[in-house]
Amino acid sequence: MEELKLFAVEIGEKPFRGKQIYNWLNQGVRSFDEMTDLSKALREKLKGSAQIGGCRAIRMQEDKNDGTCKILFEADTATEDETATEAGTAASDKPADTFEGVFMRYSYGNSLCVSSQVGCKMGCKFCASALGGFVRDLDAGEMLGQVLEAERVTDSTVSRIVIMGMGEPFDNYENVAKFLRLLHAEEGRNMSWRNMTVSTSGLIPGIRRFEEDFPQVNLAISLHRLTDEGRSKIMPVNQKYPLEQLLEAAREYTDKTHRRITFEYALIEGENDTDRDVELMIKRLGGMLCHVNLIPLNKVDETGFSGTSRKRAHEIAERLENAGIPATVRRQLGSEIDGACGQLRLRQQAEIG
Ligand code: SF4
Repeated sequence: MEELKLFAVEIGEKPFRGKQIYNWLNQGVRSFDEMTDLSKALREKLKGSAQIGGCRAIRMQEDKNDGTCKILFEADTATEDETATEAGTAASDKPADTFEGVFMRYSYGNSLCVSSQVGCKMGCKFCASALGGFVRDLDAGEMLGQVLEAERVTDSTVSRIVIMGMGEPFDNYENVAKFLRLLHAEEGRNMSWRNMTVSTSGLIPGIRRFEEDFPQVNLAISLHRLTDEGRSKIMPVNQKYPLEQLLEAAREYTDKTHRRITFEYALIEGENDTDRDVELMIKRLGGMLCHVNLIPLNKVDETGFSGTSRKRAHEIAERLENAGIPATVRRQLGSEIDGACGQLRLRQQAEIG
């Protein structure tokens, strides 16, 4: 709101106009003409000096059984750094940037899995987002835009968010931090910090910064393997931030924030779901203030990996629980749709060639 108040002054208006614009934007309006408490003259002035960015849903897949909805978003406006790389190619000739979100219905409210980047640099071997390569960071407005647009197309309210879509949030820290503050702003959406979760592949400097800046926001770390050799094979980030250091950072996080950390563990058949893997989990995670979220991987044809059966996933959860480590198997959401992140975007790219 402060930025919009300054903007209002810049265009020769009183600061409270910024507050009015802020309120409209938080309601998801798409044009200045919808801002009906502004004079016609001011609306015309705004059209000449600003544009409403964010994103639009261009494709949706809904699972009729559970209402999960996978949404492909397209950025509304080109950003300044989005210049064409090939000489002579105008930026406007480039296909628009696309990214994904997943809207999920739970008994305690609706949740949106938000993307933080277009593509991703982390290169996890099981992830469809990584296959399309990295394009750019999303800004805070484009992240908030995903929430507003998801609410518009599903005609429902989003009360929780998890930043676990395309991209590594701590590789785009400033924009993610601004997005979280926008969600929390009392005069904006007023979303509780505790209804927000940020999920990282393990960027340790980001974890340290996050525990200082957002001690009440939930943190999830994607572990997936519990040996350096195995983890480095599927998650190149492990070469820079090896497992022992990552678990140490996780312990520091829980010591400082007294918050339970979530370890995400995508179960891949034959790769990380053996008895030996379960023993390692118990050995390395036992005694930590944590919760293990087991996610049988949705099959991604392009990566050649397939998920562990739900029966085996429940067996693993039971063994962890018996060893004193809280564990759950993620409810199977969107089994009818391309549930893994990046898949809808890949399909779109394939269709447009
Ligand atoms: S799993 Fe997450 S961090 Fe890894 S490549 Fe995919 S989007 Fe990036």
